[in-house]
Amino acid sequence: MPFSLDDLPIRDDLRGLTPYGAPQKSVPVALNVNENTHPIPEDVARDIVEAVAQAVLQVNRYPDREFTILRDALAGYLGHGLTRDNIWAANGSNEVIQQILQAFGGPGRSVLGFPPTYSMHSIIAAGTGSTWIDGARDEGFTISPETAVAEIRRTDPDIVFFCGPNNPTGTPLDLATVEAAYDATDGLVFVDEAYAEFMPVGQPTALTLLEGRERLIVSRTMSKAFAFAGARVGYMAAHPAVTDALRLVRLPYHLSSLTQAAAVAALSHADEMLAMVGEISTQRDRIVSVLTELGYTPWPTWSNFVLFGGVDDPDDVFERLLERGIIVRNLGIPNHLRVSAGTEAETTAFLEALRDIR
Ligand code: PMP
Repeated sequence: MPFSLDDLPIRDDLRGLTPYGAPQKSVPVALNVNENTHPIPEDVARDIVEAVAQAVLQVNRYPDREFTILRDALAGYLGHGLTRDNIWAANGSNEVIQQILQAFGGPGRSVLGFPPTYSMHSIIAAGTGSTWIDGARDEGFTISPETAVAEIRRTDPDIVFFCGPNNPTGTPLDLATVEAAYDATDGLVFVDEAYAEFMPVGQPTALTLLEGRERLIVSRTMSKAFAFAGARVGYMAAHPAVTDALRLVRLPYHLSSLTQAAAVAALSHADEMLAMVGEISTQRDRIVSVLTELGYTPWPTWSNFVLFGGVDDPDDVFERLLERGIIVRNLGIPNHLRVSAGTEAETTAFLEALRDIR
């Protein structure tokens, strides 16, 4: 037998695990990881290149460890009276979550979440030695305030994780649930709002709850609506004391000067970067209506993807779509698949292939 990682003195709890990640396949129509599949506008790309070129001239120096200009730009983007002191960023919101759990989780501490939800929440909990606890949802993947409070009383967690809109279901999160959970715990309440920009226009988000709630954290990302997944920038808004905690665990200079420059340049064109959100929501709604017409059961969604049931054999449908150059997400939820809304052409390709297979 060739030497493998099991022959190394690796941590026992990592033995036998497989790395997390959607299959990476180079196919013409990739609708499996909820990206914004529209390329960014050319004039914005030029500005980003120019900003990165300037940063390269000083790449011999470490970056601003406090990424002050980026935090100012993110605070300006979020609004809600937030300032740089409320903002923290990292290489994707995955790293924000990791830093939160490094600071507030860990051995002997527990994290309550509500599956099905974003799987990295429990994986990062495990990776930081925190104990993950599965909470129960109500019908239709909802979590009522009463259910959240009952689950907190039952499990007494140190941290409560919510995801709204929830991945992989796309379903909304009731803000009354977040408020009730906050009042029911002395611990942290973390709301992952990676898909917030796809919510119906005018819907309040958990950012509106931050005022006066020092233990509430709202995370966002530039990877989804903002069309910046490759650059790896996620961030959170919370009381300044939370950012002080993250300073204790972050690696020094964790955000490169090139990343900071690119993100600041992109944020100065926020309207253009987000120009496709309306179009993506239109394609999402189109997916929902065609799936319904084909006899599938899509869940109501406030995000840029659709989870749909009524798939007799998800493995087979996944493979047959792949043969046609289209990749969706097969999450192992019985009779379900998840698809991201793409460009009009990509969405059409998916719907036509599915019609063909059905
Ligand atoms: N949260 C949720 C709910 C997600 O779906 C994702 C990406 N799939 C992330 C966080 C992480 O995104 P990123 O690290 O690119 O910010």
